[in-house]
Amino acid sequence: MLRIGITGGIGSGKTTVCKIFETLQIPIYYADDRAKWLMVNSPTLQNGILQLFGEKAYTSEGSLNRAHIGSIAFSSPAKLQKLNALVHPAVFVDGENWQQEQLALGAPYTLKEAALIYETGSYKTLDKVIVVTAPEGLRIDRVIKRDGLTAIEVKDRIARQLPEAEKVEKADFVIQNDGTHSLIKQVLSIHQELLALLEDD
Ligand code: ATP
Repeated sequence: MLRIGITGGIGSGKTTVCKIFETLQIPIYYADDRAKWLMVNSPTLQNGILQLFGEKAYTSEGSLNRAHIGSIAFSSPAKLQKLNALVHPAVFVDGENWQQEQLALGAPYTLKEAALIYETGSYKTLDKVIVVTAPEGLRIDRVIKRDGLTAIEVKDRIARQLPEAEKVEKADFVIQNDGTHSLIKQVLSIHQELLALLEDD
């Protein structure tokens, strides 16, 4: 079984591409969504977050107080680093358990979707990485439409990520989501290549 990662900058179309892999019955681990879930459902992670950010880290209903955590993490890079040092290993362990379950269920390969695969070093635990790309202007327009952010806010987020060109250079597969190349064709071609790699083993 192969472990495949799928990444790309904000608004590149990672999730859209994953939906196509889902139609091929490929199991997908949405790492960013799972991280948010673990932050309110893993007692170990909750304790760590409470120690870092205090009682105000959670609302009285038990949900994460994003405004509180965000304001502290924004002004203190050290706290942000500590938060990442808590969350990333927790997601990694959770992802490993999920991976073992999929192995037992007989999936040919799994996909881990995450915005940060090269930045966190998680690519080292993956066999291949797919990078989804799209022209910056298109990404900005898509995120403005999807999230209601301003162009400046989207550009600011793009600036904080690893440049797309660097991801493309490191990638094993690149999917162009520029509105002209067929996503379905590109996904099917990678799917066939991955199945062929498994047969070679
Ligand atoms: P993020 O990292 O911000 O979560 P993402 O890389 O997962 O983003 P998506 O959520 O898949 O990106 O796509 C961003 C937006 O652009 C979504 O609203 C999606 O529906 C739209 N979109 C993506 N690809 C296309 C496409 N080929 N044609 C039209 N709309 C698209």
